Amino acid sequence: MTRRDVIVGVGAGAVGVGAATFAPDLLRGGSSSQPGAVKTVTSLPADDPTPGWFHTSPKREPQPPLIGDAQAPWVVIGAGFTGLAAARQLALNFPDDQIILVEAQQVGFGASGRNAGFLIDLPHDIGAPDYIGNPETANQILELNHTGQTILRELVEQHQITDAQLRHSGKYQGAVEDSGIAVLDAYRGGLEKLGQRYEMIEGKDLPEHLGTSFYRKALYTPGTILVQPAGLVKGLANSLPENVTLYENTPITGVEYGAKTILHHASGRITADKLVLANNAFGTHFGFLERAILPIFTYGSLTRPLTPAEQASIGGKKFWGLIPADPFGTTLRRTHDNRILVRNSFSYNGDGRARPGYTDKVVKAHRESFERRFPALKDVEFEYTWGGGLGMTRNGQGFFGELRPNVYGSLGCNGLGTVRGTATGVLLADWLAGKNHSLTEFLLTAPKPVSNPPDPFLTVGVDFTLWRGQSKAGLEA
Ligand SMILES: Cc1cc2nc3c(=O)[nH]c(=O)nc-3n(C[C@H](O)[C@H](O)[C@H](O)COP(=O)(O)OP(=O)(O)OC[C@H]3O[C@@H](n4cnc5c(N)ncnc54)[C@H](O)[C@@H]3O)c2cc1C
Repeated sequence: MTRRDVIVGVGAGAVGVGAATFAPDLLRGGSSSQPGAVKTVTSLPADDPTPGWFHTSPKREPQPPLIGDAQAPWVVIGAGFTGLAAARQLALNFPDDQIILVEAQQVGFGASGRNAGFLIDLPHDIGAPDYIGNPETANQILELNHTGQTILRELVEQHQITDAQLRHSGKYQGAVEDSGIAVLDAYRGGLEKLGQRYEMIEGKDLPEHLGTSFYRKALYTPGTILVQPAGLVKGLANSLPENVTLYENTPITGVEYGAKTILHHASGRITADKLVLANNAFGTHFGFLERAILPIFTYGSLTRPLTPAEQASIGGKKFWGLIPADPFGTTLRRTHDNRILVRNSFSYNGDGRARPGYTDKVVKAHRESFERRFPALKDVEFEYTWGGGLGMTRNGQGFFGELRPNVYGSLGCNGLGTVRGTATGVLLADWLAGKNHSLTEFLLTAPKPVSNPPDPFLTVGVDFTLWRGQSKAGLEA
């Protein structure tokens, strides 16, 4: 195993099987489909019913599902960060065209509304000793992340999406084990190389920031923005341009590739001149990048709001976010409504769907992590526990560009899809309109996600990688 064969928090990273590179024609499925042959979409999204952010953000009336047939010059599948950004930008670039955006569930119910809400600016390459690696690449990723942040910030301002609860609070990266401290020290060197600001905070000073004396050290970086992710994507969906038609609760169940692409759904078909896949790991079920983008699930819990007495008992700032030094450690947040978010634990759900009952198992791990950090809050119960799928690749690369004639994609979020998905969605739509930015070339020429061996090796390998990482996390978990 290489150091790449682990996940880095929900920040960035890679997962897969072994170090060998399997290099089949990754785009084989979609590109070899015979015109007129219907490819069945073999797995459809089915997330668990308890995503805390979704339920604690204001209720939104979903757009009705599509009934019958439709056609459009542009169809985008998946209304997460990536698809919302791509559809909006296509609409702006082609104001006379109709853009259809299709979502299997409700907006905000998928991973884009289930994440920890960190819009992170800084690159974090776990394959490099200083977590920065090649400065040229790191600077491009920094620019990509800044682009995603700027787009989201401007949309929140323009459309007054107050439910996004967007705050420029920066982030802490906390460590408690020796191995975690070593990560912070190495990353500090990388940030200096990149010319990025940071502050190293010793354990004795951390309670006044975080309200816990659990951590021995934390690296604070000011550029991260925190959001209520479901509030944000609901607001983005409500403010789409008029020439975008959004169909929710409309899973695409089959696809015919040809001069035009025909998409099948429960009650009819959609004919697309050009198709954009923005459905992350589910893109593999459309015949592309098979076994290259892996649906790894991670899990979050939200407590009930703390009472004023409980808030006083822990102290610290009113609003903050912390990611772990160890990739398999715990992410924490204190939210705008005085809840604590706990995020840890991983599972490999090969079909990309939630495992019924799995959150009952995870909640125990969340409870232990929470009580270790906030012993004074041991009576504060969790109101919600949920899981969500990440599209992880073994080499940490996403896909951006053409999948086959007239079919394009931005797929494989690698745990950082809030900003990356937003930026690549816009850049893809611009590229399709003939507008190129310096980042477009970077994305088009970046290495593609590498494939993995078939099952049973794949499942055994990924399960082992996740088990090993989680067992070694120690107190960081
Ligand atoms: C617990 C957790 C914490 C996380 N924390 C962070 C974080 O702090 N910061 C960060 O940047 N990232 C984080 N992530 C990752 C982040 O959520 C993803 O990177 C992001 O959601 C990817 O956006 P996307 O639009 O590419 O894909 P998705 O959000 O997965 O959206 C794809 C959409 O496609 C739809 N779809 C799939 N198949 C079909 C079909 N056949 N027909 C129609 N629709 C379909 C799905 O329903 C889904 O809504 C976290 C994820 C989880 C689960």
